[in-house]
Amino acid sequence: MVGSTSVIPVPLKMTTAFLVKGEGIILVDSGFPESEDTIIGKLDELDIAPEEVSLIVLTHAHPDHAGSASALRERTGAKVLIHRLDADKLRNGTQGELNSIRFVGRIMKPFFEREKMNKFPPVEPDIIIGSTFDLSDYGIKGEVIHTPGHTPGSVSVILENGDAIVGDLIVPSLLSNKPNFPFWADDRSALKKSIQKVVSYRPERVYIAHFGGPYSSSELKAKFRV
Ligand SMILES: [Zn+2]
Ligand SMILES: [Zn+2]
Repeated sequence: MVGSTSVIPVPLKMTTAFLVKGEGIILVDSGFPESEDTIIGKLDELDIAPEEVSLIVLTHAHPDHAGSASALRERTGAKVLIHRLDADKLRNGTQGELNSIRFVGRIMKPFFEREKMNKFPPVEPDIIIGSTFDLSDYGIKGEVIHTPGHTPGSVSVILENGDAIVGDLIVPSLLSNKPNFPFWADDRSALKKSIQKVVSYRPERVYIAHFGGPYSSSELKAKFRV
């Protein structure tokens, strides 16, 4: 169908990247370092040439999202987009300290702050956004919006077809699989406002990076009282 948009999850080690296919093709997040072969393999499977990917949107500058951005930019020629408040972390290839807001985050913090997990190949971003970014120039009906909380420069992708991709704005409870706040957040009160902002677009399917989803707007409304 001409003009339709689809979201294709690409499962990676401990996380998920997403291909968004409309008239153009963009990638949302890139996985830990060395995920590029898996993502290129997925493109192959879908009969998409790497050069058809024109944009890599990074939801934030953590290694499990930005880790393969450098390698994938090289392989695809796509531009790398990030919010200005996460741009320095991307340039330095370091996620910095993690502020735990869930018990499981406190348990896992030392593991995720080890040098090996904390660092990733740095990238000088091609596009730095301050607020909303329209994706129509890349053949996608939708936009990137600022949804801070997990990191100051976290963003979400809102598509006209009713899909949303929110990175680590939401990470499920590991036992119930119900939506929950992420393990780590720089600003807990901003998180709730950002979830409210996403819900205000009334997405039908909210895709997250880790362990679950997609969720409906009503599931998010009920859980977060937004
Ligand atoms: Zn993260
Ligand atoms: Zn993550």
